[in-house]
Amino acid sequence: MRVRCPVCGLPVEVPDDVMEGEVVEHDCGATLEVRFEGNAVRLVPLDGVADDWGE
Ligand SMILES: [Zn+2]
Repeated sequence: MRVRCPVCGLPVEVPDDVMEGEVVEHDCGATLEVRFEGNAVRLVPLDGVADDWGE
């Protein structure tokens, strides 16, 4: 599946069976942590800059 990168806004390819808390690295250089919100998968930057992008 694809989830939008909160840093650069481009789609990030993540496995369909991805687990919460998994860390993925995006081409833009961002390190992102997987979080589940209901049925939705959200990526949050691990760098600790943006806590909540309100999406
Ligand atoms: Zn990115």
